[in-house]
Amino acid sequence: MTSPLFSLAGRVALITGGNGGIGRSIALGFKAHGATVVVTGRNPDKNAAIAAELGDGHAVIELDVRDEQAVDQAVADIVARFGSLDILVNNAGIARRVAVLEMSTEDWNAVLETHLTGSFFCARAAAKAMVAGGRGGKIINIGSMYSLLGPPNLVNYAAAKTGMVGLTRGLGVELGEHNIQVNALLPGWHKTDLNRALLDGPLGDEIRHKTPARRLGTPDDLAGAAIFLASSASDFVTATTVVVDGGYSVTDRRWEE
Ligand code: NDP
Repeated sequence: MTSPLFSLAGRVALITGGNGGIGRSIALGFKAHGATVVVTGRNPDKNAAIAAELGDGHAVIELDVRDEQAVDQAVADIVARFGSLDILVNNAGIARRVAVLEMSTEDWNAVLETHLTGSFFCARAAAKAMVAGGRGGKIINIGSMYSLLGPPNLVNYAAAKTGMVGLTRGLGVELGEHNIQVNALLPGWHKTDLNRALLDGPLGDEIRHKTPARRLGTPDDLAGAAIFLASSASDFVTATTVVVDGGYSVTDRRWEE
């Protein structure tokens, strides 16, 4: 049985980009802890697959987080159908790996709009619903260890993910009076569609040899920390970050086999 401290029973959770990778693991983790889960994504096949996994009593919405009006409508529809919105996970994301000297404005905008502006749209709509509902809430922003480090060929991604830490702090401070906690999860290297091609190459081994946990992360490694930040176990934790990277971001040494 789930400990009441970590129970999500009676809570309605929205996970953007929850039709695959990290978002899917968080969605299924929330469901296992009793939440009603609403997942969004753009790809109809991936949306159909997660709908089958979630089953009855949950929902999947086709949504592009960059579409301000569609975000507002999706939150209104969730409240109308399920009665509240209690947890938001801003997880939707893309990567455009391009050297800065070659990076187009479109490469910059696509990444900033998806991660940072999309998270703002979703957080604003969710916070309004949470304040109107009067029972507090939880907002979890999925940042990255690249909220802390400077990666090559990803200046757009690093800027967006670092911005999400500022978004987290600002929202957490402003929404505290409404009993809404806002935190960011900063994942390290977890193999998903976002980086599978890279991690299946030599870089995967290099990263494994710099990770104190001695392995790459999996999407399921994020679920526990997300459940903590979504549950009443974290009611006095706000405007901060939780790094889930097997220790990667604090070491400057390789380990040898
Ligand atoms: P995936 O590619 O597996 O998942 C990304 C998800 O975002 C998909 O469900 C995708 O759905 C959705 N998405 C992308 N763009 C949009 C959009 N405009 N509107 C709505 N949904 C969108 O990658 P991950 O699971 O790895 O990534 C999840 C999050 O974790 C991202 O924010 C990523 O930056 C972050 N992260 C991942 C790390 C890793 O090692 N994997 C490390 C650090 C952070 P669809 O395909 O249907 O559009």
